[in-house]
Amino acid sequence: MSTPSDGARTAARIVHPDRAHVWHPYTQHWQAPAPVPIVRAEGSWLYPATGRPILDAISSWWVTTHGHCRPELVQAIATQAGTLDQVIFAGFTHEPAALLAEELVQVLPAGLSRIFFSDNGSTAVEVAIKISLQAFANLGTPRRLVAALEHAYHGDTFGAMAAGARGVFTHMYEPLLFEVARLPDPSEGATLAALDALIATRGADLAAVIVEPLILGAGGMRVWDEDVLRGIRLRTQAAGVHLIADEVMTGFGRTGPLFACERAGVSPDLLCLSKGITGGVLPLGATAATESLFEAFRSEDRRKTFFHGHSYTANPIACAAARASLRLFDSRSVTDRRRIEQANARQLDTLRGVPGVRAVRQLGTVAAVELEAPSGYLSDIGRELAAFAIAQGVLIRPLGNVAYCLPPYCTSDDELDRVYTVLHRFLSGERAAPIGSGGPIDD
Ligand SMILES: *Cc1c(COP(=O)(O)O)cnc(C)c1O
Repeated sequence: MSTPSDGARTAARIVHPDRAHVWHPYTQHWQAPAPVPIVRAEGSWLYPATGRPILDAISSWWVTTHGHCRPELVQAIATQAGTLDQVIFAGFTHEPAALLAEELVQVLPAGLSRIFFSDNGSTAVEVAIKISLQAFANLGTPRRLVAALEHAYHGDTFGAMAAGARGVFTHMYEPLLFEVARLPDPSEGATLAALDALIATRGADLAAVIVEPLILGAGGMRVWDEDVLRGIRLRTQAAGVHLIADEVMTGFGRTGPLFACERAGVSPDLLCLSKGITGGVLPLGATAATESLFEAFRSEDRRKTFFHGHSYTANPIACAAARASLRLFDSRSVTDRRRIEQANARQLDTLRGVPGVRAVRQLGTVAAVELEAPSGYLSDIGRELAAFAIAQGVLIRPLGNVAYCLPPYCTSDDELDRVYTVLHRFLSGERAAPIGSGGPIDD
C-alpha cells in the first residue's frame, strides 16, 4: 500500500514492537499469525486497528461479564484511581476491600465468611490449597493429600498445575508436581465410588477435594451432575475433608445463578474466585473460607500464621471495580443471562445431528459443541475453526475439538446468531482463505 491509512499506521506501530519484544501466552511464536492489535472495545465487540469489528464470543478468556467498557465500571475505576491507588494490605485496610469482602460474603454460599485476596485464578487456588493443608497442620492433625478430577484445570502455577489434569500443559514439569489423587471426571465416570474408595484407604491423609463445580472448563466444557456435587459434599463433610470449589470460571453468573454451587445447593469450605469478579476489567483473585478454617490459624504461636501474600493484595482500584460489578448483577442481568441461555439452547438444537458434530452441551450461558475430530488440546480442527471465525469477525477459541460460546451478558440474540452462523458454515465445509491473503492485518 503506497498511502497507508491511519489504522494501518496504528497497527504497524503496535505490531512491530510487539513482534520484537513481547512473549505471548499459549503462543508458538514461530507458527502463530501476527497478533491482532485491538484499539478499543465496547459491549460485546473488539475494535482492531484495521478491518472489521470482532464479536467477543469468549468474553476475552472468560472474564468479561457485563460487557466491555461498561460506563459504571469505568467511572468506579477512575474515581478510585484518583483517591487511593494502592496501599500495602498487611497492617492496613481500606473501604473498597472491606466493603467488597462484606458484599461477597452476603452473596456467597452460606458459611463462607472470610475473604483472602490475591491477584488471579491460579493464586486463588494456591491460597485455597495452602489454607487447607495448613489448617490441618495447625490443629496438630497434619494431612498431605489433595484429590482432584480428571480433566480438571486450576491454573498454571505449580500448585494449580499439580491439581490440574496432567497433559500437554504440564508434562514438562511432571516430576516436580506434588502427588494428587485423581477422581474420574463426573461427566464420564463413577466419581462418588472412587471418592468412597479413596476415603476408605487414605481418608486420614486426605485434606481436600478440589472441583470445578458442574462444568470442567478448560478440560473441554464438560458438564456434570448436581447430584454428584451434592454427593461429594456429603462424603467430604462426613470424612472431615475440605471441599474446595474452584469457581474462577463459573462464578459471577456464568452458569445461571451467581455461583455454580448454588445450582446444587452446596456450600464448600473454600471457594476460589477471579476472572469475572471485576466484571473483567482488572485482575483480582479471592479465596473465600469458612470461619472454622480461619479459626484454625488462631494461635499464640506466630508460626501458625498464614504466611502468604502478594504485593497487590486487595488493590483498591480492582476492589472498587469488583464492587461496581456486583451492583450490576441486578434483575436486568438475570434477564440477560436467561435470554442468552435460551438463545444458546435454541442454537444448539440446530446443531444436533449435523454431520461433523459429535455432541453439544450447555450450562447456563456456556454452550459447547464437540466436533468430530481427534480430541485433545492440540487438535488442528480448532485452529482451523478459529481462523475461519476471525475472518468472519467472530472471536472463538476452541479447546482442541471443542468449540464453545461464552459471551458477555450484554450479547444480543442477533450477535449470538453470528457465532452459530460461523459454526454452520464451517461445518458445511467452508474454510478461511490462506493466511497472507488478507487477514485482519497485513504487513
Ligand atoms: C482460568 C482458570 C483458573 C486460572 O485463572 P488465571 O487467572 O488464569 O490464573 C483457575 N481455575 C479455573 C476453573 C479457571 O477456569
